[in-house]
Amino acid sequence: MIKIDQITKSFGQLEVLKGISTEIGKGEVVAIIGPSGSGKSTLLRCINLLEVPTSGQIIINGQAITDPKANVMQIRQQIGMVFQHFHLFPHMTVLNNLTYAPIKVKGMSKDKAEQKAKELLARVGLSDKADAYPSRLSGGQKQRVAIARSLVMEPQIMLFDEPTSALDPEMVKEVLDVMKGLADSGMTMAIVTHEMRFAEEVADRILFLDGGRLVEDAAPADFFQRPQSERAKQFLEKVR
Ligand code: ADP
Ligand code: MG
Repeated sequence: MIKIDQITKSFGQLEVLKGISTEIGKGEVVAIIGPSGSGKSTLLRCINLLEVPTSGQIIINGQAITDPKANVMQIRQQIGMVFQHFHLFPHMTVLNNLTYAPIKVKGMSKDKAEQKAKELLARVGLSDKADAYPSRLSGGQKQRVAIARSLVMEPQIMLFDEPTSALDPEMVKEVLDVMKGLADSGMTMAIVTHEMRFAEEVADRILFLDGGRLVEDAAPADFFQRPQSERAKQFLEKVR
């Protein structure tokens, strides 16, 4: 579904992605892990064109999204993204946070958007918060709203950039549980995370980045039990 072919990304003189190639199949869940500054966020942001790769190609469903003529708006609509900080609209209720884009961008009727939004709030366990404002929610609740808000656009791919890193420990599980449910439902997902147990349990594959290179691309059992590279061994010793 997603083919990443020799992408590089430089910011001025700094080359942060140094030729990354991999593929993500439909329904596959890939965890991207690695040290801080290794290029994880940049790689994720290239997949939905928040960053434009300096060279190389990304092909989604046969369409080269890195082609200068590609329709960026249309590509982004197929890809949901959830960030560490939730970026909810503070002046809108939870329900309106969810219905805003489908109404404005997709031209969905208000009734239909609200019906869909309510289904998704139920799915993330927040039916009772439809009329609340974000400031009244806990971090875990905000992140679950952010996930529901992405899903309301019916993306084919969901990208997560450290979705639980800003949360108090007791709220991490409720967000990971929602993500696990989404994975079980067959969503194609790429997740930057430091939650190693979650990655081991939920991901189909681990991408380990170091210094802008894809150092390991392996099944979780292989990566966690038999890391091939010295870099991955050192990293795992530190985080486990
Ligand atoms: P990670 O998510 O693995 O911590 P990032 O992809 O955020 O790593 O960053 C990789 C490197 O690229 C870092 O050295 C970071 O400072 C640099 N970088 C990221 N975004 C920019 C930017 N917009 N301008 C300049 N440098 C950037
Ligand atoms: Mg990052």
